[in-house]
Amino acid sequence: MSDQSNATSRRAFLQSGVGLAAGGAVAQVEGALAQGAGATDADADLARLQGRRRILIRGGVVLTLDRQVGDFAQADVLIEDGKIREVRPNIAVSDDTVAVVDAVNRIVLPGFIDSHHHFYQGILRNILTNGLLNPDYNRDVSNTLTAAYRPSDVYAGVLVTALGMIDAGTTTAVDTSQVSHTPEHSDAGIRALQESGLRAVYAYSRGAGPGTKYPQDIARLQETTFSSSNQLLTLALGGTLDAKIFAVAREAGVPIVSHGVSGNTERALVELGRMGLLQPGDEYIHCNHLSGIAWRLIRDTGGHVSLAPPIEMAMGHGMPAIQDAIDHGVRPSLSSDVDVTMAQDAFTIMRSTFTLQRLMVLQRIRNGDLKPPPLLTCREVLEFATIEGARCALLDRKVGTLTPGKEADIVMLRADRLNVWPLNNAPGDVVNLMNPSNVENVFIAGKIKKWRGNLVGIDAARVVRLAQEARDGVVRRADFKPNLLG
Ligand SMILES: [Zn+2]
Repeated sequence: MSDQSNATSRRAFLQSGVGLAAGGAVAQVEGALAQGAGATDADADLARLQGRRRILIRGGVVLTLDRQVGDFAQADVLIEDGKIREVRPNIAVSDDTVAVVDAVNRIVLPGFIDSHHHFYQGILRNILTNGLLNPDYNRDVSNTLTAAYRPSDVYAGVLVTALGMIDAGTTTAVDTSQVSHTPEHSDAGIRALQESGLRAVYAYSRGAGPGTKYPQDIARLQETTFSSSNQLLTLALGGTLDAKIFAVAREAGVPIVSHGVSGNTERALVELGRMGLLQPGDEYIHCNHLSGIAWRLIRDTGGHVSLAPPIEMAMGHGMPAIQDAIDHGVRPSLSSDVDVTMAQDAFTIMRSTFTLQRLMVLQRIRNGDLKPPPLLTCREVLEFATIEGARCALLDRKVGTLTPGKEADIVMLRADRLNVWPLNNAPGDVVNLMNPSNVENVFIAGKIKKWRGNLVGIDAARVVRLAQEARDGVVRRADFKPNLLG
């Protein structure tokens, strides 16, 4: 939501044969985006761009993260009807049929995928700055504050979170909701996800109080909002390692997103495995301190894991299981979990993952380990934050790499800014140097969601106001006092 226009924006980043040649028209489009959805002539230019069947992202450093397709020091990405049509250098097009986006000095890669976030908590950002999972989070957030949510608060929290994600280059996320006090609470969160334009898995999860219909309300959700697979939202069932919940998921034919998986609960996991209730595509979150038995069970049943290293380190979940997962042949996805204590952007999570794994390995070497595991590379961490997230969300057929045929969920990162220039290594830039201010353009299913540093078609003032009103109401009803200066 920041204006990053500068002198380079005067160049023809957006070129087209019909009315968007260069210069003034480009400035008009940018102006319209900066202003949101105001009714101006420039909006018409934006609408024409957005209505284009074909968009060519030209001349970027392209990390497809698909080893078959390869990565390119300079290549073009052709989007057609919302899908990636072609990725290679020098794609020839006639300019009157394609909107061209200049990607020189941009890193073009798949949108980041966050496999576990409690979206409704967006209005509680940093309300638990120095808190621990137990007792602080469980007492203040899971119980006191969450119980005070009304449906409109869920809507505001989910909306500000989802838009914050798109702003930071995350194009897909799993909403591990946990605020379904009534069906209206669930519907409010889903409506906000829909309005945001983010691709998301709604992991329908528990609520509190007499009005909750968890888990049986999943049948209604399946028949209504989630009756089509041809949409940005898909459905899963969130829950703990409870045989009854797993049975409901199996009955409904949806994957489980299982929270609270750790060494303390792995007996329940093993028991579920013995009962045959674990299925390929199930997601296991955190996974700190699991034994080899549990890891093999996850791997052998086709499970996926979601690790949230920054939150786990800060809030006391235990040692993030990066190396454990890799050692047992499970490539992890990454997640932000909550923003009551920590940033939700992928850069923060990737950098934590990279530095922590290396610290652990290098410390083993320092302590005399003669057969340490390999150090992670930035490219591997990028895969965790993209294709492994897609696998975890069961969306790898659609997204996660820039593979022709997949949907065009693409981010363009500015490599020409003062915090990263000159560009010497693209994966390293993304993982270790960049931050959300480098996110210039974001496409989801080929639609422009962020353009030249500004979210598209978003009334930011309205979202800010809704989030503040919701925060005020929740903390008042919960009788909770945020500590602004402490
Ligand atoms: Zn969580």
